[in-house]
Amino acid sequence: MTDYLSVYNAVKAISDDVSLVAVSKFHPYEAVMEAYDAGARIFGENRVQEMREKFPPKNERPEGMKVYLIGQLQRNKVRKAIEWADRIESVDSLPLIEKIEKECEALAVDMDILLEFNSSGEENKSGFRTEEELLNAVCYLRECPRINLLGIMTIGPLGGDEARIRQAFQHTKELFLKVKSENPSVSVLSMGMSGDWKIALEYGSDEVRIGTAIFGARK
Ligand SMILES: *Cc1c(COP(=O)(O)O)cnc(C)c1O
Repeated sequence: MTDYLSVYNAVKAISDDVSLVAVSKFHPYEAVMEAYDAGARIFGENRVQEMREKFPPKNERPEGMKVYLIGQLQRNKVRKAIEWADRIESVDSLPLIEKIEKECEALAVDMDILLEFNSSGEENKSGFRTEEELLNAVCYLRECPRINLLGIMTIGPLGGDEARIRQAFQHTKELFLKVKSENPSVSVLSMGMSGDWKIALEYGSDEVRIGTAIFGARK
């Protein structure tokens, strides 16, 4: 049993044009299909291998099903990621961008990405650590014709301190607006997970990524 519909309804009750990514990591394909049958179309996975084992190849998926990679990506798995993912939301370094561009070129495909910002300052989190580094990556992307920069993603601080969560989302929103003002292709601000998505919507999130509240606790 998934709670996709109740989460979907709760999100839509607050904002009509937010997209909902159903984060299916650690849950089997049966759970994915249950959510799909309830209306879910976009799924999030954080490991390349799990994504490839769980989901069919792009051209064999049920109608409209998309899979976004939301976890940290190692350079040696970029090709395997591009082959399966419809979007990479966790791009966090220049060498990774360089590798994605190169592999896209080799495969003759384009890739939609988000840049991940480490808004919590937590050392163990991925994402660009400073605004300068992220803006530098935005500049670098102008030389990458195969990569389409869609926006910015962040993971809020864990642990439930609401003031820190708000500060992180506010900071990311300001950065997003700065990037968007100079880059017409940028339109997605991805913030909010099971524990903080309502707060994220207050800061203008366009996309929430929800796992636990839909599929239950992960093993
Ligand atoms: C796991 C994960 C989520 C979903 O987290 P929940 O708390 O289970 O909703 C969202 N975003 C990223 C990047 C994740 O790794």
